[in-house]
Amino acid sequence: MNIQWYPGHMTKTRRMIAEQIKNVDAVCEILDARIPVSSRNPDVDELTAGKPRMVVLNRVDQADPEGTKRWAEHFRAKGYAVLESDAKSGVGTAKFAGAVRELLADKLRAYAEKGMTGRVVRVMILGIPNVGKSTFINKVAGRKTAKTEDRPGVTRSKQWVPIDRNLELLDTPGILWPKFDDQSVGMNLAYTGAVKDDILDVETLGCYLMAYLGEHYPDALKAAYKLSALPEREAEKNDIAYGYRLLEAAGKKRGFLISGGEVDTERMAKILLDEFRSAKLGRFTLEVP
Ligand code: GDP
Repeated sequence: MNIQWYPGHMTKTRRMIAEQIKNVDAVCEILDARIPVSSRNPDVDELTAGKPRMVVLNRVDQADPEGTKRWAEHFRAKGYAVLESDAKSGVGTAKFAGAVRELLADKLRAYAEKGMTGRVVRVMILGIPNVGKSTFINKVAGRKTAKTEDRPGVTRSKQWVPIDRNLELLDTPGILWPKFDDQSVGMNLAYTGAVKDDILDVETLGCYLMAYLGEHYPDALKAAYKLSALPEREAEKNDIAYGYRLLEAAGKKRGFLISGGEVDTERMAKILLDEFRSAKLGRFTLEVP
């Protein structure tokens, strides 16, 4: 998958959200717990203004638990309901309905007082492609629902997914990408596999990812690549130079050599990205609140 950056498609999605917002009681945004800022479309705030909000920190199985805790606190402090989930294994998803009812407690009480107990609560689900939106919805619904089409040019109508007698989800088709203005957003999406890594040279990506891990998770890096010590960050002039040193050190340990005894850093970069994505290296969070 390439970055499907079609302004027209985004405009359609935005229009659909604007049209449907009046039909829902709350908005639930699914984020990648490893990159809660980069996996977020900032326009959602403006498009959904005034609606009670929930944030699902998905992929907690791949994220640093300490980072997830900090992000959960961060969003709670902003008044959002927060749910931590590993949609793939179905961890946390059973708490969704209860969390929605808690978020809307005042409203539901007011309905009950008016005798409107049977009213269905509707929640709009938003999330960038690959964040785990379909997996999450299927787990919450307890069955397979149709996958929302996110290919440009393929128009699919919105989908209401009943969860129980009193709860329905609105699965939003269309593409809602974050803002790529900041280079780090594109890189975070590439590290996590949300976008194909051909947006950037693999070796460059590997250098930056190594530099981040070397700085924030040195012990995990040492353990993963059996390094007794990491090169000094201060000895290198920038992240890319530091990351390159780390790629060399790890590649050497793995025996990735090319002619002349040089380390095959490109191969090491590919391996690093694979191991990062499959959480073989450990659980990491790439952004802090
Ligand atoms: P969508 O494009 O947002 O609907 O994403 P999908 O639901 O199709 O998920 C994309 C991929 O991520 C699939 O291979 C899922 O199995 C996987 N996935 C979804 N949620 C999680 C999660 O919480 N943890 C892990 N490890 N993988 C997940």
